[in-house]
Amino acid sequence: MSFWKPGTVAPGSSADRVPESENVVISSPFEQRTTLPIHKHRDKLLYSVEKYGAVIIVGQTGCGKTTQLPQFLYEAGWGSEGRIIACTQPRRVAATSVAARVAAEMGTTLGREVGYTIRFEDVSDKEKTRILYLTDGMLFRELLVDPLLSRYSVIMVDEVHERSVHTDLLLGMLKKIRRKRPELRIIVSSATMDANYFLNYFTSDTSPEEATIISLEGRMFPVQVAYMNNPVPDYVRASAELAWNINSQRGSGDILIFLTGREDIDRCIDELSERIPLLPPGATRLSLLPLHAGLSTDEQLKVFMPAEKGHRKLIISTNIAEASVTIEGIRYVIDSGFVKIRVYNPTAAMSSLVVVPTSKAAATQRAGRAGRTSNGVCYRLYTKSEFDALPTTTPPEISRSDLTSLILQLKALGVDDLMKFPWVTPPPTETVIRALEILSASTLITDNGYLSHTGAQIAECPIEHNIAKMLFASKDFQCGEEILTIAAMTSVQNVFIIPDGAPGALAELERRKFTAEEGDHLTLLNAYNAFIRYGKSSSWCKNHALSFKAMSRAVSIRSQLKKYMIRFNLPVTSCEGDAKRLRQCLVSGYWQNSARLQPDGTYISTHGNKILHVHPSSVLFTRQTSSKWIIFHEIEETYQTKISILTSIDPDWLLNYGYQYSVNRNT
Ligand code: ADP
Ligand code: MG
Repeated sequence: MSFWKPGTVAPGSSADRVPESENVVISSPFEQRTTLPIHKHRDKLLYSVEKYGAVIIVGQTGCGKTTQLPQFLYEAGWGSEGRIIACTQPRRVAATSVAARVAAEMGTTLGREVGYTIRFEDVSDKEKTRILYLTDGMLFRELLVDPLLSRYSVIMVDEVHERSVHTDLLLGMLKKIRRKRPELRIIVSSATMDANYFLNYFTSDTSPEEATIISLEGRMFPVQVAYMNNPVPDYVRASAELAWNINSQRGSGDILIFLTGREDIDRCIDELSERIPLLPPGATRLSLLPLHAGLSTDEQLKVFMPAEKGHRKLIISTNIAEASVTIEGIRYVIDSGFVKIRVYNPTAAMSSLVVVPTSKAAATQRAGRAGRTSNGVCYRLYTKSEFDALPTTTPPEISRSDLTSLILQLKALGVDDLMKFPWVTPPPTETVIRALEILSASTLITDNGYLSHTGAQIAECPIEHNIAKMLFASKDFQCGEEILTIAAMTSVQNVFIIPDGAPGALAELERRKFTAEEGDHLTLLNAYNAFIRYGKSSSWCKNHALSFKAMSRAVSIRSQLKKYMIRFNLPVTSCEGDAKRLRQCLVSGYWQNSARLQPDGTYISTHGNKILHVHPSSVLFTRQTSSKWIIFHEIEETYQTKISILTSIDPDWLLNYGYQYSVNRNT
């Protein structure tokens, strides 16, 4: 590939003119607080929270919204009398890392006064915690047990520009709660949002005093932006090449690359690993650190540790590092310009992951990561005209998501009339109709649109409705033990890995030891059972090409799901090796994700006639011709539509245990 040439440069800046030795600001968490721009606005902020039901805060990244505001509120007494100040984040890594930072600033142990809650992980104290960072999804779920969120005095919905489905639904519910609990305060915050849109959302003719806007100046170090002269043909390779050149030619500072997903990240790491032995003696070494949603919390938090002496950190991330997180020492950001998002096709009732160009707002956030603790440079691997053509923001998730599980939850929250719900942006009608059809075909709602008994229980389970459905069906198929394991194993990612230093072929041979010819669900089950049988050992995992972290997480998720089974009186019995019964039970949950083999070796989906390729990670990849019909767990669309976690089935089961089974059962 050609050598990196700084391309056309944003007005008034040039990547070439970046001073090499800037003072990196490193101050102790305590003394740094008072120097943040938000500090000057402390009184105004506290006054507004007293006076208004909803305060909309816009302030550049780094001004102190996420870490300081909850502390101001705490100091002002909003955490007294057992009340809690909540701050929601759209992503796990933001919730966990920010909580750790705030605990450090307050000089307390994480999990006491300051805590966090993410799915399947709660680091907070029922009595002591006063500031709680949590994912928006977790707070939304909490509504099911505490419809008025009565433990909270203030709820700050942060990074609202991301418009995750849960953020949107939460705002709708908060608006409703305010009518019943006027003492509750809402804060909506972001660096890049249309503040007036939210002001209008909260205010009405009858309550003009309900909301106000506060703007804060930022404390960003200057970030210079460089564009490419010509589009790059392969952004993964280009980012690896550029990172390599920065390491050999530019001054100190860590590097953060934004790619779209795990496959990109692995490929980028491969490209760079091959070259690392070529670094001349005495050159700065590179520590390669992946960051994506499939990693465990511990693995994710590794990126926040300072680089070893003589090393430069090179973090290769998805968009999860885009907002909220501060990784100290980052001076160079490389932005591929792409993001992977989930898109729903209501006609086919199928969600898929697709790679699309990012938005201007996301590009701004990404660049901002280079200016958190010192000045920096952002290299955009696209041209200035490509940037100009980007959409201002990515459409809200609610407009492109499968809402089946969420509508079930809304119904469980008593929102029977979806038309009356205060949507921030209403979802597409066809998506809502499709969701209602599926819920009704699965007998989770009645013909009149009310929640059925099972529907109410399934809404409580912290997993997708179809997986929860399988847990309930396991009672009839007498395979609760195994279905529970499968539900847990499909909730974790990256179970099979190639251990450091091991040849890939060897890892593949190890994996084959668990292979069940029926497909991946049973293969996952075999791996889990072997993990338990051999004492949950990390060295055993290493020898068998399994991720110890992923397996341990599956154990913890399984035990949490088991509590739901017990609560709902579902027997945890074993099918005693009867794989047929087990697969029939899988069909009761996955019947909408079914497909038939075609002569050319691809599959065609039963709904929507989509051509599907088997993902190479599937055990059916090489033996698919023996499976005429399959069900699958996940679908991903890049240049091809690939399905993963497959199980071979008998097509009659689709009628007997899928749709028909659902309709015939009186639940
Ligand atoms: P905002 O939410 O407004 O973007 P934050 O509250 O996240 O800002 O951060 C405010 C400032 O605190 C940042 O500019 C940075 O200097 C500092 N900071 C936050 N988190 C960390 C961290 N983990 N390590 C070092 N500095 C941090
Ligand atoms: Mg923030």
